Amino acid sequence: MAADGRILVLAASTRALCESARRRHDLWPTAAAAVGRTLTAAALLALPLDPGGSITISIRGDGPLGGVVATADPRGHVRGYAHHPHTDLPPRPDGKLDVGGAVGRRGLVRVARDLGRGQAYTGSAPLVSGEIAEDVTSYLWRSEQVPSLVALGVLVGSGGRVRAAGGLLLQLLPDAPPEAAERLEANVARMAALTSALDQERTPEEIASVVVGDYGLRLTSRQALSFHCGCSRVRLLRALRGLPASERAELRAQPDGVEVTCRFCARRYRFPGEDLPPP
Ligand SMILES: [Zn+2]
Repeated sequence: MAADGRILVLAASTRALCESARRRHDLWPTAAAAVGRTLTAAALLALPLDPGGSITISIRGDGPLGGVVATADPRGHVRGYAHHPHTDLPPRPDGKLDVGGAVGRRGLVRVARDLGRGQAYTGSAPLVSGEIAEDVTSYLWRSEQVPSLVALGVLVGSGGRVRAAGGLLLQLLPDAPPEAAERLEANVARMAALTSALDQERTPEEIASVVVGDYGLRLTSRQALSFHCGCSRVRLLRALRGLPASERAELRAQPDGVEVTCRFCARRYRFPGEDLPPP
């Protein structure tokens, strides 16, 4: 928190999380940046939720990546994927990965908040740039009317590995100082690049502290983040049971059984025909 509890500040280093996603899905550099930014945004938005809640961000643009989906819960479990993981574009003139070009500039960002106990809330907003941070910021202002600032960054090193990644989310609570939005925005803009700060091993706390400046940062909680998917054989079988009877019959008739890949974590499950639900 900053400004005596009137500004919510969330900062994350997500290198390990993004590198885990890159390896699982064999993400090429531009796709790795797009997925990494979306995973980071989901992780940050999920942290203030009550236990049992979760958040899903779906970004669907008209670019070659097709779309990105990320889900996170307040325990720091995050998972996600891109429709076309083998997407890589030439870098932009400023040397940054062209995430906006991969996502596309026309489309929608959709956010579903599952508040637990069966309550859900879904909203959407048009994409602004496809660069993810701007799109999520615009969504928070337009659809949830929460004055927010979001910065996200993923640095892909040689060999395609994620070298640094992280994000910042600042939200002005109803009694926040009136000039805070402008001042924080200027501070975020001044902080040259989030990824270079993370690459220099600055901690999320240090970065948050620089950004809030005079408003004074007070650390209230800390949460480990990890790539975690709740999929299992039992869950997938339950999903297969929901298929139409004709499709179930077809699957059972496969002589070598079937292989099902979880979209979120790319884990593969093999089911012999007799294990599959009968039509
Ligand atoms: Zn999974």
